Amino acid sequence: MHDSHIHMALSPLKENYKSDIQDFVDQNGKKILVQSTDILDFTQTVEIVESINTIFPKVADLALGIHPTVFAESLERNSLEGLDLFKYAQKQTSVFKDIFKKNISKVKAIGETGLDYYDINIYSKFSKQEKEDLLEIQKNSFRMQVKLAKRHNLPLSIHSRDIVGSTQCTKDTLEILAQEGKGTIRGAFHSYTGEIEMVEEILDLGFYIGFNAIITYPSGENVREILKITPVERILFETDGPFLPTQKIRKDKKEEKRYGRPVLVREIMEYASDVKGIPIDKLEEITDQNYINLFGE
Ligand SMILES: [Zn+2]
Repeated sequence: MHDSHIHMALSPLKENYKSDIQDFVDQNGKKILVQSTDILDFTQTVEIVESINTIFPKVADLALGIHPTVFAESLERNSLEGLDLFKYAQKQTSVFKDIFKKNISKVKAIGETGLDYYDINIYSKFSKQEKEDLLEIQKNSFRMQVKLAKRHNLPLSIHSRDIVGSTQCTKDTLEILAQEGKGTIRGAFHSYTGEIEMVEEILDLGFYIGFNAIITYPSGENVREILKITPVERILFETDGPFLPTQKIRKDKKEEKRYGRPVLVREIMEYASDVKGIPIDKLEEITDQNYINLFGE
């Protein structure tokens, strides 16, 4: 069992990491890929990976990246630190490059990175110009990270979220990947919830798809359909914790830990085993190997 996408530096995971990783390891958990999002958690992400590995050797892998929603969210919250959007993006980039350089020997992937068009469009107060700027900044940031992945031969953990019914975000994500290095760039589309028609193109580019607790939700029909058509050799599991607890946890009012944590991959895999019609042991064996193939031992 592995968790290919989790944010251990966020609460309440960071306060509970010892017991949460212990639960995971007790259930045959082998590897987790810990993602960063922005200036606020780069250092904490590096530190928590180290802390976990001190107690549970080689369980936590480090991913460093700038999340695409950071720019729209900072603008929405008025937290650009007195800078304009472009200067703020430059600051994110330079802090990111610095932390990346310092930790290069430990970095297993670039993540979380990608594009998010949903976020740009949900905040109604953004002007047309601000939306255009955010789009440009997101694309520049993503392209910079793809180039870095190529230069250092690292896989990418990609977030690509469209407005419902649109395929533009996935198309732009795939276009940047293809432009920067078709055939040489590898990675996973984590928590892909977009249109099913784009799945073929993601797979054609050689990428994996990460499935999480959304497949256990009544509203997850679209993602279950995507799971059905994704070959098992391209499937990864993840929690995206502390977000997205499984349906069982959401419904259980007595459950104290009401957040996404690595051990929940067990339940996600059980669900996936039913959807795919593949025995869970076999599914676990193949997908654990997928993790190793993509992110290394
Ligand atoms: Zn994430």
